[in-house]
Amino acid sequence: MINEKMYAYGASKSSIREIAAYGAARAAEIGADKVFNFSIGNPSVPAPDEVRRSIERSLTMPATQLHGYTPANGLPECRSAVAGSLNRRFDAGATAADVYMSVGAAASVSMCLHALTNPGDEVIVIAPYFPEYRVWIETSGATCVEVMADPTTFQVDCDALAAAITPRTAAVIIDSPNNPTGAIYTAETLAAVAETLHAAEARLDTSITLLSDEPYREITYGADVPWVPDVYDRTVVCYSYSKSLSLPGERIGWVFVPSTNPDHDHLVPAIAGAGRALGFVCAPALFQRVIIDCVDVPADVASYAANRAALTEGLTADGYEYVEPDGAFYLWVKSLDPDANAFFERARAHELLPVPSDSFGCAGWVRVSYCVSLATIEASLPAWRALAAEYGR
Ligand code: PLP
Repeated sequence: MINEKMYAYGASKSSIREIAAYGAARAAEIGADKVFNFSIGNPSVPAPDEVRRSIERSLTMPATQLHGYTPANGLPECRSAVAGSLNRRFDAGATAADVYMSVGAAASVSMCLHALTNPGDEVIVIAPYFPEYRVWIETSGATCVEVMADPTTFQVDCDALAAAITPRTAAVIIDSPNNPTGAIYTAETLAAVAETLHAAEARLDTSITLLSDEPYREITYGADVPWVPDVYDRTVVCYSYSKSLSLPGERIGWVFVPSTNPDHDHLVPAIAGAGRALGFVCAPALFQRVIIDCVDVPADVASYAANRAALTEGLTADGYEYVEPDGAFYLWVKSLDPDANAFFERARAHELLPVPSDSFGCAGWVRVSYCVSLATIEASLPAWRALAAEYGR
């Protein structure tokens, strides 16, 4: 017997990955310089030199240590390094015991969802949202509940959030800087979210966890990214080095449970249990050592800022409307066709490959991932112009 739910996840695939794969095949067919693959968040910026130097240092270690199992939750030195960095940056009161090293943010969020929910519980996502959230929520046995963001600012709409909370609401996932809109939730937004959750907890006599998924925390263009545990006590933070250090293929990140979270003592073992149950144990040892060495190495934001400037200037000149991105490396562009899938097909005819918004839980937009090279963005501008011209712009 085959598990049909798993079959469906495998057979239907994520549209981001499907478009990325189409782009790779098309590039092989007509040449990489003729395809503008804006689908996946795979940084073109190289990992920092410190990463290479750290790996070279590790290679001198005895083989058993180099490739050996680490403790399930990660090397103590690595967890201490992460805690130290959080304390330096956010005065987080973190210790190594509060950190679980994971296989990227995908594992971090999945483990938290398994640890936080029971079958029949509900988890709220703020639409548009990273599509894999739905898969991870459903796999944990919970139900995914979509709440639309404010359609102009793409901040959290707290009235809509309040209306969606029920006695079964176990958690709310937020993602700031946001994939796909590039919005950064302001201190005011987060304070309003905290107030909304506290009010609902009091009204319904429940507890609701705020799961802050932050793989883009360092990729910002000037705006502040508030530290969520300072705003709401029952918070868990998920992180990944996939974007900040350009290491998406190495699968390394963490979960942090602040000691101020009232569930801390129960939740830390529950996350370890979820890691055990899901097989997300002993994150890659080589890259745990990289994190010890590189925990405070900055992201190359300047490259993304240059891409953002080139893309937004080009699209503005062609009459496109988009959300001014404060962070991450995605541009959320209004589809020129009411049907974003139809718009995607016409874009594809120009070898432009954004991702239609429907799989992000929202109609009428496309996501343009601009972590490609600046040369790709510049070379794509005539195609964007020709596409706009088809729509009379
Ligand atoms: N969360 C968000 C918002 C993302 O954009 C991504 C990847 O693009 C992930 C989680 C998964 O990150 P990772 O590749 O580190 O598992």
